[in-house]
Amino acid sequence: VPRDSLWRAQTPQAFHYEAILAAHEAAIGAALTDDAAVAAAAGLEVRLVEGSAENIKVTTSGDLQLAERWYAARQAATAAETRVGQGFDVHRFGPGDHVTLCGVVIPHNQSLLGHSDADVALHAATDALLGALAAGDIGSHFPPSDPQWAGADSAVFISHAADLLRAAGGRLCHLDLTVICEAPKVAPHREAMRARLAELLAVETTRISVKATTTERLGFTGRREGIAAQASATISLPRQSET
Ligand code: MG
Repeated sequence: VPRDSLWRAQTPQAFHYEAILAAHEAAIGAALTDDAAVAAAAGLEVRLVEGSAENIKVTTSGDLQLAERWYAARQAATAAETRVGQGFDVHRFGPGDHVTLCGVVIPHNQSLLGHSDADVALHAATDALLGALAAGDIGSHFPPSDPQWAGADSAVFISHAADLLRAAGGRLCHLDLTVICEAPKVAPHREAMRARLAELLAVETTRISVKATTTERLGFTGRREGIAAQASATISLPRQSET
């Protein structure tokens, strides 16, 4: 059979209702195999639209298995992947009358020392985000040797990490932060800290957890020499192609 004028047809086939109804009425008794043949027999022009070999008609259980395999392959190619990053930071106490945790000013009989505003909580959170992105650490993005970050509001650091996450097409699923110190008491400021973190990261507060613990007067935090903070960030990223 010469093949240059043959096509393999698939559904769907689409027609103007009045035209195909009239064509069927005119074709009663004729040996035609599908609607396109009925239309052609009535003198209607049948136009071909290129289809896809994957757009199969699912009739048998074998067809369904084939469709499921194609669907799974497509999902795997476009799915997101989940990553977790961790961050840890310490700042020592020095003379002063407040500390800044997650951008919230908390009165205290000492202050944290540091090149920036020494917001140990935001630094741990920033490193958690950068870790999940495998994008270095806070020091590689904002070198302490650079005078422009002296006294800087640490909101700049975490906003930069959030920008990198957005640029990668990702989103923050959850951030869990633990502040470790004997004093000041963190609990009265927990909700304000959550709200500020959520604002800086442009997510709902329900995606942000702020916790606090002491170390039972053990170690440098127990001796009230400074504050430590650790954080875990869970992010969703478009799946990277394995090249
Ligand atoms: Mg720090």
